[in-house]
Amino acid sequence: MIKFLDLYSQYQTIKSQIDAAIEDVIVHSAYIGGERVKKFEKEFAAYIGAKHCIGVANGTDAIEIVLKAADFPKGSKIIVPANSFIATSEAVTNAGFEILFADVKDDYTIDVKSIEHLMDETVKAVICVHLYGLPCNMDEILKFCDNHSLALFEDSSQAHGAEYNGQKIGIFGSAATFSFYPGKNLGAFGDGGAITTDDDDLAKKMRMHANHGRIDKYDHEFEGRNSRLDALQAAVLSVKLPYLDGWLAKRDTIANFYLNELSATPLVLPKIDGNRKQAWHLFVVRTEKRETLKEFLTEQGIETGIHYPIALPKLKAYTHITQKTKNFFACNVDREILSLPIGEHLSIADVTFICEKIKQFFGVQ
Ligand SMILES: *Cc1c(COP(=O)(O)O)cnc(C)c1O
Repeated sequence: MIKFLDLYSQYQTIKSQIDAAIEDVIVHSAYIGGERVKKFEKEFAAYIGAKHCIGVANGTDAIEIVLKAADFPKGSKIIVPANSFIATSEAVTNAGFEILFADVKDDYTIDVKSIEHLMDETVKAVICVHLYGLPCNMDEILKFCDNHSLALFEDSSQAHGAEYNGQKIGIFGSAATFSFYPGKNLGAFGDGGAITTDDDDLAKKMRMHANHGRIDKYDHEFEGRNSRLDALQAAVLSVKLPYLDGWLAKRDTIANFYLNELSATPLVLPKIDGNRKQAWHLFVVRTEKRETLKEFLTEQGIETGIHYPIALPKLKAYTHITQKTKNFFACNVDREILSLPIGEHLSIADVTFICEKIKQFFGVQ
């Protein structure tokens, strides 16, 4: 059986450090806030190359907090890609704003040009999603934001460690959000998230939003919420962070193996681009035979995933949105995409087996 994700195998490789870190939190019994959270925030900010890191409860809250702190007028529109996890668009609604969907390109990242004709003064920001671990085309997006006076936020939940022109993503917009959901490239032992920014005022405001609008223990400047990264998660993340680049290198090796081995098949393979260092959170291929290929691989003991089977505008949750998106690439490609297993739990023998089976399916050598 080849698993899509194997968190236990990763734990076994760092067990003694993780166990010691968890025991240390229990011994000190500082569960909310405290030194371990501060330490991880500092380490993650340094890793990304951002001035501030604010630990929050999860990656969805992170987006909502960024939007709340941005203080746009009520009813403002925020652009999000039509292919993402619902968290991206959900945060827009929950922060009190309206969703404006943009299509994605054939690399599955946002195509800002697709909604150029819908721009007006009610549109205030773009949330670009570095989907599957591939950085968006930041030059193009920054130029678009500049032309239309838009704020830019990065949903980097799938892309810890990815780089654009040699620069880690997470510093291109005015703020970037990360998820440490266990299955992410850098995952906690539960929910967790973070926001990075270089903006001192925004950082302060977002930290207050995440902690009841506090200026002092029982002094609150405004109503915020409770969305904090807890010390157990921070301690686990501090142990894992130094391993991240090694894990990403392993993902890169597997991705390159797939790209080579599968080049003779009819599969549409992920686009690679010298300016964009992939974090390979997911390895997504495309075929009209998606359903039968998925079934065949399951029979061979190979787990696969679909990210995502229903494009955001087509979800029941969004039937009230009148924007025309039927012709979006995102709204048609959702029936063709398939995520192959990728991660440091896989051996080259595993990946060789997967490639052999895919080639067998398509009848190619
Ligand atoms: C995982 C994910 C989120 C949400 O993160 P949670 O920590 O699960 O709330 C947001 N956006 C994207 C693109 C994600 O993949």
